[in-house]
Order: sequence, then C-alpha cells, then structure tokens
Amino acid sequence: MLHRVPRQDAAAVTAADDAAVQRDGPRCRRCGKDLHGQSASKHHRKLKGRKTPVREWDLVENIVVLCGSGTTGCHGWAHHNRTEAAATGWVVASWDTPADVALVDTRGQRFTLTPEGTVVYDYAGPVL
Ligand SMILES: [Zn+2]
Repeated sequence: MLHRVPRQDAAAVTAADDAAVQRDGPRCRRCGKDLHGQSASKHHRKLKGRKTPVREWDLVENIVVLCGSGTTGCHGWAHHNRTEAAATGWVVASWDTPADVALVDTRGQRFTLTPEGTVVYDYAGPVL
C-alpha cells in the first residue's frame, strides 16, 4: 500500500478498515483534502453502538476516510450535523444498507460505495 492514513485509535484494524483506506487513499472522501501529515480518521456511516452488531458496521461500504477526528474536520461535521449528514449519506440509519445510500461530497458529486471496495459515481465525467 502506498499511502496509509494515520490511525488515531487503538481499535483493532480490520480487513474492512484496510479496504476503506486503500479505496479512499490519502484524501478526505468528503472534502478532498490531502491527508498527508494531516489529522484523519475512519468514520462509520452506520454508527457504532452498543446494540449494533459488528457485522453491520464493519463493512467497507460503511467506512469512509475523513479529515479530522470525531470532533473536528469532516468527521466532526458528520457527527455534529446529523440531519445534513443523513441527507447526504454520511450517516445512515440502523435499518439502511450502506451500499444502497448515495453520498454527496462537498463539491456536489454524488456517489455510492460498494461492498467490493469501489466507488461508483452518478456522473462519470470530470469533477472540476
Ligand atoms: Zn474533509
């Protein structure tokens, strides 16, 4: 792997974590910020919770690399702006299937994350 995003927690790194980091590389998936030497973390769209089975959140399509932490940057934004985050796919409901919920980044690009660890854009043209 060429790029590794700094990890901020000591939680076990899973295959899904690694696949998400490989997919998103050294950029924030939401704002596109270059994360080399920057604070970054993995956000779980279906939020981790005591009652949420691991199999429901430890999925590559449920994990996105975002700038900041749970309180700063895009990761902090997702946790502190739940309504807008849910409307743009960064937070999904416990009953949702993450692969079925499209996300919208800060440039307005709409895409979905697949269980295969790829990104499918609604519009395949250039993003300026
Ligand atoms: Zn960001």
